[in-house]
Order: sequence, then C-alpha cells, then structure tokens
Amino acid sequence: MTKQKISTRISESKKEKPASEQLEFGRVFTDHMFVMDYKESKGWHDPRIVPYQPITLDPASIVFHYGQTVFEGLKAYETKQGEVQLFRPEKNMQRLNRSNDRMCIPRIDEAFALEAINQLVHLDREWVPNAPGTSLYIRPFIISTEPYLGVAPSKQYQFIVILSPVGAYYKEGINPIRIAVENEFVRAVKGGTGEAKTAGNYASSLKAQEIVSEQGFAQVLWLDGLEKKYIEEVGSMNVFFKISGEVVTPALNGSILEGVTRNSVIQLLNHWDVPVTERKISMDEVYQAYKDGLLEEAFGAGTAAVISPIGELSWNGESLVINESQTGDISKKLYDTLTGIQYGSVSDPFGWTV
Ligand code: PMP
Repeated sequence: MTKQKISTRISESKKEKPASEQLEFGRVFTDHMFVMDYKESKGWHDPRIVPYQPITLDPASIVFHYGQTVFEGLKAYETKQGEVQLFRPEKNMQRLNRSNDRMCIPRIDEAFALEAINQLVHLDREWVPNAPGTSLYIRPFIISTEPYLGVAPSKQYQFIVILSPVGAYYKEGINPIRIAVENEFVRAVKGGTGEAKTAGNYASSLKAQEIVSEQGFAQVLWLDGLEKKYIEEVGSMNVFFKISGEVVTPALNGSILEGVTRNSVIQLLNHWDVPVTERKISMDEVYQAYKDGLLEEAFGAGTAAVISPIGELSWNGESLVINESQTGDISKKLYDTLTGIQYGSVSDPFGWTV
C-alpha cells in the first residue's frame, strides 16, 4: 500500500465541550472524524479528516443485514505535563487486521491508520479531558457499504475513526463488582468469531447482560460454548484468577478476544516475577479453590476499566465472595501501574506509550 496524503476539512463551527467531571462513556463526540474508502479497483483511497457528521448509506448496505464490520477501542491520555499519549496503539491496529481477516474485510495499512489517528487526535487535541481518570476514547471501525442483499463479502467499505471524551470509569476509586456465571447463553464458540472484534459478538451478548443486570450483577462470566465448563471472559474484559499465589488466565483458544490489557498484565506480572499461567481453567476448579480457601483474587482486564476486581461470583445459586469483596493487592498494583504508565506518572519500562 502506498502512503497517501490525508486531506483535512476543518469544521466551521466548534461544538461545546462538556465539563470533564460530567463526562459519561461514548455519548459526546469531537469536532472531526477520519474517513477512508475502499473499492476493489482502487484499494483503500481518499483518506480525509472532515467535520464530524452523519453518514449516508444505501439501505441495502451489507453491514445493515449481515453485520460484516469490525471495530477497535483505545484511548488518548493527557499527562501532568500536558502531553497527549496513546497506549500500545499498534496492538489495536494489529488486532483490527486480525478481525479484518476473520470477517473477509480487506486489511488496512497499520502504520497509515496510526498516522491518521495521530493527525485526528492532534486536530481535536482540545477535546482530550484532563480531570483525573478521564480520557479521549478512540473508536476506529470498518463497515461494509456495498448495496447487495446476497450473502457475500462486500466489495466496498469505509474505515472511519471517531473520538469521544469519556469520564473516569471509577468515580469513587477502584471498586469490586458482582458477577453472575452465565450458564445458559454463550458469547462465542470455537470456530466462530469470538476472537474478532465484530459487532455480532456484542449484539449476541446483550440478552445475558440484560437478565443479570435486573438481578443486580454488573456483568456475566462467560463459559465455553461447548460444555459450559471452562471460563472464557468476563463481560467485555479478559479475566484473571489468583489461586495460591499463581495468577491464571484462560489461554487464547479461538473464541476469546485477545485484549491489549491482558497482554500488558501478563508482561507486568512476568516483570515482577509473579507466577502467571495461560491455560484452560474451569469453573469447577475456581469453585474448588474457593472452597479450599485458595482463591485469593479475581479480576477483569480491559481498556475501559483497566482492572476490575471481582468481589463476588454467583454460580448455581451459590455466592462466592472473593477477598471479602475488597480489591486485592495484585489487582491494585496492576491498576496503579497501568494507569500510571497511561497517564505518564509511572515510568514506562516497556516503551508502551506513544
Ligand atoms: N474481551 C472483549 C470481548 C472485549 O470487547 C474487550 C475490549 N476490547 C476485551 C476483552 C479487552 O480488550 P482490551 O484490553 O484490548 O480493551
């Protein structure tokens, strides 16, 4: 792919920015967005930054009917020194292309997409909030735009990047959540699309989430799609358990989404000489460890919350209260270190920030 020049059309009017303290997740968007088109004859072409605006699509566009689409999620953080930095953005671009491969969407040039994100964030720099814990969420996505009702890969696409200032995930400090183990619905199956970041996975997760929300749980713990025995993920985070001093996370198996945070947690634990293993782990094993008093911590890991301690797991009518529903030492240390690196207050031995 040849490097192309990104044209820029500046918005004539500037939107009002919400106060940093009042920000939610993903409700307000900045003044500009990045767009690039794909056609078989031209490849990816016409990269441009334009005023944030609605898009017009043919109602027959494949994305509306068959969900051929992928997305990513990452954040820009403002440091105390007033600089803006991204956290391992190349990992998100690599994952976008892995999702593209799975969904029969043409690959993007990762370096070029990163350059586009850099230019867009730079242009909307004033939208990066600076209250503690706030950030600018970056949402790159690709939609299939060919008007065709046949079930086939689209011949036309759009790659779009939008930006949204988001509030602190924890308004009152890192807080353990209640989780229900999901015994009926599954998120993904082996051979399915679980390891791709594609819309259908999230649409199919809504029902389980809706049911457990009514029962007062924050999220579900997903089990494997075959036997409903092995643990996969928690909500839209990867999951970790600390059992007798060893941290265990489900091995990547084709149905788990490989998180950037997961990868960073594993690297940090290795760096600290904390034993960490990627392997199959069943709910029976977690239950037995709990009964034996060996289940020390459990937590989710993802871009949104960074680390989300699990204070309680509800399974088959039993309630497993973990670490007295308090944030464990490893969870806290991971949270402080990762957010410290992201906001530039902790030195970054891995060169993760850009
Ligand atoms: N699993 C799922 C299903 C997700 O949607 C996410 C969020 N992207 C994650 C795990 C965590 O990934 P990351 O650490 O890259 O945010």
